[in-house]
Amino acid sequence: MSVSLAFPAPAPTALAVAGSTMVFPVGRVFCIGRNYRWSADEPGRPREMPSWFMKPASAVVPAQGLLPYPPGTVDFCHEIEMVVAIGRGGRDIAPSRVEAHHAWGYAAGLDLTRRDLQQQAKRAGGPWEPAKAFDHSAPCTAIVPVATGGHPRQGAVWLAVNGIERQRADVSELLWPVPELVAMLSRSVALAPGDLVFTGTPVGVDSLQPGDVVTGGVDGIGRFSMTVGAAPTAPPFEPFLSGDSP
Ligand code: MN
Repeated sequence: MSVSLAFPAPAPTALAVAGSTMVFPVGRVFCIGRNYRWSADEPGRPREMPSWFMKPASAVVPAQGLLPYPPGTVDFCHEIEMVVAIGRGGRDIAPSRVEAHHAWGYAAGLDLTRRDLQQQAKRAGGPWEPAKAFDHSAPCTAIVPVATGGHPRQGAVWLAVNGIERQRADVSELLWPVPELVAMLSRSVALAPGDLVFTGTPVGVDSLQPGDVVTGGVDGIGRFSMTVGAAPTAPPFEPFLSGDSP
């Protein structure tokens, strides 16, 4: 018996590939927690790997034009990050094989965050999705393929708002570099072609206001400029008031 779709399947999210007419079909979005030193007196690389969380592929949008101010927050925050695009999946990948076999390309992305909802989630022991997994929460530049751009060893990861710089670090300062991050994820879930890995943000995360012009990028990979839209008029929601988490 043949099957038919109940309704037309939504088009897959896809990102432009720099210098090509190809597009990169986005699978899942993994985001790494703290992965840079945020102050000089922090110790170096901690013993434990950083935490990770996810955003839906539908949160990924090209980093250009309007950046909608999301509903339900009064603390909409930027996190500039280098993004790894996975071209070949696998589980239990050895770090030594990540660059040669699994990393397809790199981009600059924003891990946008409703910080007030994240603080509520931390206090309530609730899930992070309301804070992290909202619409348009993962703008990305075009992906620079490894075939043309290689693997970034250094280069500034930076963000400015209205021309004033707020975040700057260097790819070489990642506490856990890309091979270790991808290997870690692959021990927890089987990675698949199309997955994106946001590698963590430098110090300087802060709030965005309607009308702000946000510029940022990863030197050698790409840069973007977006303008924050008007705040919605609906009142903020408070997802953890009921206290009935599963
Ligand atoms: Mn982040």
